Amino acid sequence: MSPYQRPAELYAGLRLHQNEHTGGCSPKVLDALAGLTREQCALYPPYSAAIDACARHVGVTPDELLLVNGLDEGILGVAIGYLRMRPDGIVPEVIIPRPAFEVFDVAAAALGATVVSVAPQDDFGFPLERVLAAITARTRVVIVTNPNNPTGISTPVETIRTIARQLPAGAVVFVDEAYIDFGGESFVPSLKDFANVIVGRTFSKAYGLAGLRAGLLLGKADTIEPLRNAVPVYSINVAAAVAVVAAIEDDGYRADYLRQVAASKQLLYDACRRWGLPYWPSDGNFVLVRTGDRTAAVLEGVRARGMYLKDRSSDAGCVGCIRITTGLIDHTTRLMTAMEEILCAAQ
Ligand SMILES: *Cc1c(COP(=O)(O)O)cnc(C)c1O
Repeated sequence: MSPYQRPAELYAGLRLHQNEHTGGCSPKVLDALAGLTREQCALYPPYSAAIDACARHVGVTPDELLLVNGLDEGILGVAIGYLRMRPDGIVPEVIIPRPAFEVFDVAAAALGATVVSVAPQDDFGFPLERVLAAITARTRVVIVTNPNNPTGISTPVETIRTIARQLPAGAVVFVDEAYIDFGGESFVPSLKDFANVIVGRTFSKAYGLAGLRAGLLLGKADTIEPLRNAVPVYSINVAAAVAVVAAIEDDGYRADYLRQVAASKQLLYDACRRWGLPYWPSDGNFVLVRTGDRTAAVLEGVRARGMYLKDRSSDAGCVGCIRITTGLIDHTTRLMTAMEEILCAAQ
């Protein structure tokens, strides 16, 4: 069975279940798309402008960067690069600390790799000792999502360095930084010292481009080079290529979103304390909240009011937990009003 089910097409209401930018992309992105010519649509896309803009923006050189069609494709590319069955017949292993983003399991399953799951700590801090104990001669990839999804908890960069130093030759740490714009410390400045670390970034969250599909793989030039053959030559389309440049340039729009995310989280934390619901302070644009035996009532209640939240109850350590996207303040307050009604009624 596939480890992943395509999300239901819920577009009628307020989408607080997939951590998208619910305010939409920068208007400058739309201008860039409107400026596309018929020729640009007809020709295979040039990438150098997008690559240069991204490299400058994240602080690497162009040969240390690979544009991908969303980070999901980047994850599949890493799996193709590192999780293939080897000529000696040994099945590669990927270590996934739980709870984790589902796409890692999809990619591992696609390549027939063995998934080694590592149980969470109670506080969802990174389970370093358990991950180190799980490393074997067959380990090819260790996943670190920083900040993690669905917990929002960050991992210290030194923890990632420690893992990288203990890996067997030929193995890599994949650091998924999908939410690094919102908080936590990036591994990118350390990449120069580690040939066995690959960082993933996406334009789907802080940049509001989930519908266009664009992401990045970052690493030392020799580390990224083999991955260039693991994704299609024309992986991202011309619309996404112009959109990322426009999105990067609009610092003001992004700064406003980041400010609203920070304020939204504070509002939700305060509300959770009033409601007596445990939550984990998050470095992402979402918060994991333990609604316990009121989970079904909350999910159904917000749904009836035209809002969607993500049930994470089946994730390791997340029994009775929902993940709430905390983006625009208006959207967060709408959600909080609904939750207040539901929780009062459920008492
Ligand atoms: C959203 C997300 C991604 C996927 O990003 P896309 O660029 O939209 O494919 C990758 N990793 C994590 C942890 C995410 O939450």
